[in-house]
Amino acid sequence: MTHDELLYWLKETDKDKLEVLFSKADEVRKKHVGDDVHLRALVEISNHCSRQCHYCGLRAGNKDVKRYSMSKEEILACANKAASMGYGTIVMQAGEDFGLDVEWLAEVIKEIKQKTPMAVTLSLGERTKDELVLWKNAGADRYLMRFETSNAKLFKKLHPPISENAPDRIQILKTLKQIGYEVGSGVMTGIPNQSWDSLARDIELFKELNLDMIGSGPYIAHPDTPLGDDENCHCEEQSDVAISENQVPANVEIAYKLMALTRIMCPDTNIPCTTAVTVLNGELGFRTGLSCGANVLMPDFTPPEYRVLYQIYPGKGQNKTCVENDADVRQLIMDSGRTVGTGQGASPNMGKHK
Ligand code: SF4
Repeated sequence: MTHDELLYWLKETDKDKLEVLFSKADEVRKKHVGDDVHLRALVEISNHCSRQCHYCGLRAGNKDVKRYSMSKEEILACANKAASMGYGTIVMQAGEDFGLDVEWLAEVIKEIKQKTPMAVTLSLGERTKDELVLWKNAGADRYLMRFETSNAKLFKKLHPPISENAPDRIQILKTLKQIGYEVGSGVMTGIPNQSWDSLARDIELFKELNLDMIGSGPYIAHPDTPLGDDENCHCEEQSDVAISENQVPANVEIAYKLMALTRIMCPDTNIPCTTAVTVLNGELGFRTGLSCGANVLMPDFTPPEYRVLYQIYPGKGQNKTCVENDADVRQLIMDSGRTVGTGQGASPNMGKHK
């Protein structure tokens, strides 16, 4: 698709026309990644974060969050549970927690790889090449890091860099590929000052980066953040970044269109129906996501006492896609005419890349 075609579809609101787009995406999904829906066990191992992203409830400046770090034993218990339930992948996620001992994590990865047949995915923010290599050598298979928006100026405003010379997320994604990870990324839709043009550019960048996984979700405002706090909203500050009438809305329909266009543009990639979609649209969110390109779901295996503290946006802790509802998730997949994937569910894109 050309840039103008992407723009056309992103802005389209006619339900009948969108049905055509979603059917096309579903057809491409079936042809390239099949009917399997792969389940990933998500474990949020720490909610400490040193960054100050303007949209995220875990930002270091939010003093109202009770912080936690899971122990090795707690993480291994989650991993063993996921493996015993037939999950093929564990995703270990955290804020950008520089208190996290990198050698300790390497030992955790090694132990999971020795004791279970699961793939290990990491989502730990912007890390140095040495750390990424260490974890890869310990057995990690995949790394997820959203670039959030291809508009570098907007990203820098929302996600203040640690230092002027630090590599940006696009550079780190390229490094991850070089190291040999299966690499995932994605964006937020409807961030204040995100333009339609920039969202179309995001999809083109997915393709250019040759991503193996692409997970995107709608922006959900968190009241304890600069962007979510109406009184201190920084939107005006950012008015030089995008034109307000060109603002992408933060609704779930945009997320579905983005999923469908991503599938068409990057047919061999793994695409999750993300938690933010289900928080906004419940079970219907899953069903719709699966019908317009998605082939991955990520039930939350974080122990409930920690899960409620991983509040990157409101409602996330009450997400119904979790280990306790595993049977319902599987039923939902089958009710959608799909099959529950077995094995690690690696991205076909990675196979082609190799
Ligand atoms: S988005 Fe990630 S890096 Fe930014 S504050 Fe939240 S957890 Fe930290």
